[in-house]
Amino acid sequence: MQQLFVDLLARNAEHASTVGSRFDEVQDAQHPAVVTVCCSDSRVLQDRIWRNDEPGHIFTCGNIGNRVVQRTGVGDTVSGDVLYPIEHAGTEVAVIVGHTGCGAVTATYDALTEGIAEPDGIAHCLDLLKPYLEPGLDLLPPDLPRPDAINHLVEYNVDRQVEFLRGSRDVPDSVTVIGVVYDFQDIYSDRRGEIHVINVDGEVAASALRNAHPEIADRIERLWEY
Ligand SMILES: [Zn+2]
Repeated sequence: MQQLFVDLLARNAEHASTVGSRFDEVQDAQHPAVVTVCCSDSRVLQDRIWRNDEPGHIFTCGNIGNRVVQRTGVGDTVSGDVLYPIEHAGTEVAVIVGHTGCGAVTATYDALTEGIAEPDGIAHCLDLLKPYLEPGLDLLPPDLPRPDAINHLVEYNVDRQVEFLRGSRDVPDSVTVIGVVYDFQDIYSDRRGEIHVINVDGEVAASALRNAHPEIADRIERLWEY
């Protein structure tokens, strides 16, 4: 067996030695307070970015590009991975977590601008992002360096995913949908690992968001208001 996996099992044993009693209340059912949709990027630690070690608290969905959209025979719909806790576990808050330097956003940008091909499975994921990101290309400020263009599109992508959830009849109006960007590239601040709120239920203007949510005003920050 690869030493890597031996080491992972050792880490899991440490986990099991500390977490046992925390399952007492949730052994037979879950009612997570929040569902998060994070990019699968290895630098985005889906539970740890919230310092979560509480079983049953956060329902975590991960995929490349933090997508909420699933393509079905009847068209684009909210992914069952995201909808499940809302439909079956009473979850009332959804948080879409994009991140600076996102590879999936970069690959979608490259596919749209240069037609770069990917293996079928990746192409399928990018095809789910393309129609939502394509209008953003025309809105980008002119002459942006490529990394900046990508980070602008990261925000645009989070906005579109929030918009899709908010607009779906499958998601009750009582559910709050929040869009954030996780920054480890010193783009928003020099505090790597901080989350920046960019969208709440479709509101994207930072000033309006700060007025509406003064308790988190210092965490509301956008690169781009288009
Ligand atoms: Zn990513």
